[in-house]
Amino acid sequence: MIGIDIGGTKTLAALVRIEDGEILHRLLKPTNTNSPELFVQGIIEIIGELIALDISQQPVAIGIGTAGHVDPHLGKVSSMNLGVSKLPLKSLVSEAFGLPVFIDNDCNAGAIGEMYYGAAQGKQHFAFLTVGTGVGVGLVLNGGVYHGKCNYAGEIGHVGIDFDGARCKCGGWGCLENIASGPGMVELMKAELSKGRTSVLELCHANSAQEIFAAARQRDPLCVEIVEQAARALGYSIRNLNNLLDLELVVLGGGIPQAMPEVFVDYLQGYLEKIDNRVNLAASPIVISDLYPDSIVLGAARLVPEKYSVETTSKG
Ligand SMILES: [Zn+2]
Repeated sequence: MIGIDIGGTKTLAALVRIEDGEILHRLLKPTNTNSPELFVQGIIEIIGELIALDISQQPVAIGIGTAGHVDPHLGKVSSMNLGVSKLPLKSLVSEAFGLPVFIDNDCNAGAIGEMYYGAAQGKQHFAFLTVGTGVGVGLVLNGGVYHGKCNYAGEIGHVGIDFDGARCKCGGWGCLENIASGPGMVELMKAELSKGRTSVLELCHANSAQEIFAAARQRDPLCVEIVEQAARALGYSIRNLNNLLDLELVVLGGGIPQAMPEVFVDYLQGYLEKIDNRVNLAASPIVISDLYPDSIVLGAARLVPEKYSVETTSKG
């Protein structure tokens, strides 16, 4: 089965053995966001190259997990980062290869990957939270992905956690993404430095979350404060999720938790214990995904209904 993970900067295409989630071949290329036409051309090219890598493994279907807002039924994608609006990606890819295509949002695909091959195996109610350039969540409730009325479920990055907080690009105030995402942390760092706070990172150097993490590891007080604030914001949101949904597990993916697991699991768990309001007594464990980023491409391959993988097995 072919699984595709389309991100704002890179696209990963993988040939997946569905039985055990083994990735037989993989290709990673930059995502072309210069125009919708070039974007589609780039996706078709990477799939074509992947198929050509191993002609003994003729795929029977393609699963796509992509950044942005996705309508899985109409197969349309809208994303400012990808530069597309209501792009009928499902039908375009299907026509190019003469294969059925199944598509969903990347966080939802990641949750499916974790459910079949990762930390959430055997779980019926869990959240797969990715924290990187943005913050998103794939929700599995009663054993299935929860999409909501118009497929907007999971926009946890724009759930307000501070009603006195700064304005967000979404138009709201005090959104989680402005505190816990990579760009959000960089902006907060710059704002503190411009107020005269001191740090080993001078104003011109605080350009990435990785720099903030490196300085936090050296115990730079301001960087430690920014990182712990991100973890608390995330913890607060996880508490809200748990009180609302009564989850069995929260799986963290994305570059931010992976960069400093001691803060994003240990410190965050400690913070949660401190603010625990004892409404939801069955607090769920928080773990960092071992599978990420492959969880997205594996879950994408799993978007393809089982009847197609039965076909593959009987052929092979
Ligand atoms: Zn927002």
